[in-house]
This record gives sequence, structure tokens and C-alpha cells, in this order.
Amino acid sequence: MDRFLDNVEHNRAQGWDGGLDEVQRRSLHQAKALTESHRVRPPHPGAAGALIGMNHDPAQGRSWQLITAALTATMGPGRDRARWTMFLCPVHEADGQHHNPSLGVRYDPAQGKTIVRCFAHCDDEDVLDRVGLRVRDMWDRLPERNPNQPYQRGQRRPPSRAQQEQQRRVSLVDKAIDYARLPIPSKPDLGDAIGPTENVCGYLYRRPDGGEEGVVVRHKTPHEHGDKKSFTQAHWTGTSWEPTGFAPIPYRLPELLDGMQTGREIYVVEGEKDVGRAMDAGQVATCNAMGAGSWTPEHAKWLHGAGRVIVVADRDRPGYHHAAKVAETLDRRPHRPANHPAVSTPRYEGPPQ
Ligand SMILES: [Zn+2]
Repeated sequence: MDRFLDNVEHNRAQGWDGGLDEVQRRSLHQAKALTESHRVRPPHPGAAGALIGMNHDPAQGRSWQLITAALTATMGPGRDRARWTMFLCPVHEADGQHHNPSLGVRYDPAQGKTIVRCFAHCDDEDVLDRVGLRVRDMWDRLPERNPNQPYQRGQRRPPSRAQQEQQRRVSLVDKAIDYARLPIPSKPDLGDAIGPTENVCGYLYRRPDGGEEGVVVRHKTPHEHGDKKSFTQAHWTGTSWEPTGFAPIPYRLPELLDGMQTGREIYVVEGEKDVGRAMDAGQVATCNAMGAGSWTPEHAKWLHGAGRVIVVADRDRPGYHHAAKVAETLDRRPHRPANHPAVSTPRYEGPPQ
């Protein structure tokens, strides 16, 4: 554990998560106007000073201007990396703490579209919603709706049956929460930060063969009324730790597969700390990296063949949504008898990108 934390620290010292040096040049007026017109979080500390000059690059369309200005106003300026401009993700990195930006944004001139991708797998719609935008703002121009013409590349398709189903279920979760009057505790206000961020521990994500795939590092920053937690990710390339997300594999995967082979019940919880608690209590448990909202069907595939999966919801709105999403993605077909030794597992596909 110490070795990879050292590595993460080393990489940090090399500057991969350093200051806000490469600035997405945006008008401060534009950013301010967006801050005022949308209900958004205050800009990242230091962001305002970095928002200098005005650059309307004609090669980047209206969608790019809109999305990057909204993200800059909400989360602070982005940084250019190879194909992407990286921002802090407004869904899972909006706690005001230090993170390695996970949200990639790039403009595709062929489609007249700005692509928004959280490499920790947050939903595009959620990401845009947090900065006061909608999915259709990803296009420079709305596709014309002529039912007699087939949809062309770059045009937005009508939602598929699966997408409609997904939307219906998600809103059902909210309805269920409200009808059942499930308690939604509000997060305590911790006040201002009063000290530097420290590493608390690292959670190592292993491949089926036990090899290291990635690490989630837990940080804490002392505030006036308690410590605030935050998380960053790194991917093990085989020689070094890179500050990116990693393959969507469940936490404690080798132990999970062992448990499935022997027909154990599997608990899916929301964070690594809870997995640790469940494992200490003799249970088999797993979760995904980066908390609620980051579970994907890719994670669920590893649970195909499990005898019984118990999804544990954290007692807050994101927690209930998360649990519903986990449950939705699980394979509900009748499982094979416990004496059947073969567990079908997906092939390890490697890290994203
Ligand atoms: Zn995200």
C-alpha cells in the first residue's frame, strides 16, 4: 500500500494534478452571466483570477462555447490534454476539494457537437444538469424534426425504448423516495477549510489474476466543523501510476470471483470502506470506484452467475438512485444451481481509451 501511495505522491510532485496552468480562455463576463443565470456552485477557488481574455475560436461551435463557459463558471477552468480539455466533474468532483479532473470535453466539428465524457462514468445528462444545461446543448444546432427523413449522422435520435425505460425507472426512484418519505439527511455544513489535504489511504483495484489495475486514494481536508473527504483515481500502466480512471471493474474482484464460485451471497455497497467492513464481518462484498452514480453495466457483468446479490443503499438520494441503478443492471435470469462450478465472467478489457 505504501509503495503505490508513494507512487501517487511522486506523480503528483511531477505535476500531473498541479495548478490550473493551462487555462481555457473564457470571458469573465460570460462566466459571470452563467453563474448568475443558473443555480450553480461558486467557482473553484482561484478560478476567477484565471479567467482572462476572450477567445472566440471560430473552429469551435456554439455548443463548445456554451458548455466550456458553464463548466468554467461552475468548476473552474479546464486544462488541455491531448484530445480533451479536462474539467473537474460537477457530479463526482464538486465537493470543492482537490481532484484530478475526470471530465473530458472535446468538440467534433464534423458533427457540430461537443462531446462530454466523465472518465469515472458519470452520466452526461447528470453532468450537464449540474451546470444548468441539457443534453441537447451538446449540439450546435438542434436537428430538424422531419418525420419523413431518416435520421442522419450527427442528428439526435429519438430516445430508444431502453432509454425511455431507463428514464421512467429513474423517475420512479424519486417517486418512491417521496411516497415512502424515506429520510434524506442533509449534509452538514463543515465550514471553511482550515488545513491542507492529506492522503488517508488507498483502495487498490485488482484484476481477476490479482494484478493491479488502479487505485482510489481517499483524502481528507480538515474544516472548521470536521474533516471533508475526497477521492482521486490513478491507473497502473505496468510501470507507473497515471492520473486517470481505470477499467470499470468491481472492487476486490479476485475475492468476489472466489465468492461466486462457492455460491456465496454478494453484497454491493456504495464505497470501499463499507466493502472492508462487510469483508471483516465475513461477507463477500464489492463496489465501484468513485461512489454513487459511477456504477455501470460493465461492473454488473462481473456479477453474472452470482447466486444472490444484495444491494445496500446509502441513506441519501444519490444512494437510493445508485442502488436502483445497480439492481437494474444485474442479470435477473434464473441462476444456475450452486453445484455448477462454472461462473461465466466477462473478459478483462483493459482500461478505458
Ligand atoms: Zn464524474
